[in-house]
Amino acid sequence: GRKFVVGGNWKMNGDKNQINEIVNNLKKGPLDPNVEVIVGVPAIYLSYVKTIIPDNVEVAAQNCWKSPKGAFTGEISPAMIKDVGVNWVILGHSERRTIFGEKDELVAEKVAHALESGLKVIACIGETLEERESGKTEEVVFRQLKALVSAIGDKWENIVLAYEPVWAIGTGKTATPQQAQDVHHALRNWLSANVSGSVSDAVRIQYGGSVTAANAKELASCKDIDGFLVGGASLKPEFVEIVNANQ
Ligand code: 13P
Repeated sequence: GRKFVVGGNWKMNGDKNQINEIVNNLKKGPLDPNVEVIVGVPAIYLSYVKTIIPDNVEVAAQNCWKSPKGAFTGEISPAMIKDVGVNWVILGHSERRTIFGEKDELVAEKVAHALESGLKVIACIGETLEERESGKTEEVVFRQLKALVSAIGDKWENIVLAYEPVWAIGTGKTATPQQAQDVHHALRNWLSANVSGSVSDAVRIQYGGSVTAANAKELASCKDIDGFLVGGASLKPEFVEIVNANQ
């Protein structure tokens, strides 16, 4: 069995007041103990969140650079993330890819370095609307996966894959359970053919894109959906319901 894993990606949102409210809500829960819960926090608040977060919730950075230290103004390293007691990082989010121009190879290098540094990684992939409408969904996600495999080979123990169709992010247009399941299944088949059967069986694949308390249960019931990466709704009390949607 793959343990259900739900991430809340706060993106560039929240101040200390709002963070206190979100964390109090997580403390109140109750959170399904069979679910791994991770919140993705703006870098400047990572240390603060570590001081207030309950033990049953893990913390992730939303990005990092691909080397331990040096002249990279404005960046943070996996070593620094670990140094403040944080064990996860989200990499390759579509906003990093599209707004900040991160290419498949750079994302893969970041993932490899983060893993080598002892972080666990939520690695994001997904197609744009144009790519989906021109029938290129599988081509795109397989290309993104291939870059990852070139960098990390069969070392997938500390990776969670997040399938986030770009057209579903922040749009209110959730993928249907069938659309999501189809891509998750294709990803697992690709991993089986190109990495190994055991990696394909073991790796958890989250769905992300307009997940809400209203659609989470049906998505969670799909065979190859092992959790969610939640944006907007992770800032709201309904995040608890999403965490508990796999019951
Ligand atoms: P929304 O849930 O706001 O659509 O964002 C999804 C996402 O990008 C999570 O990483």
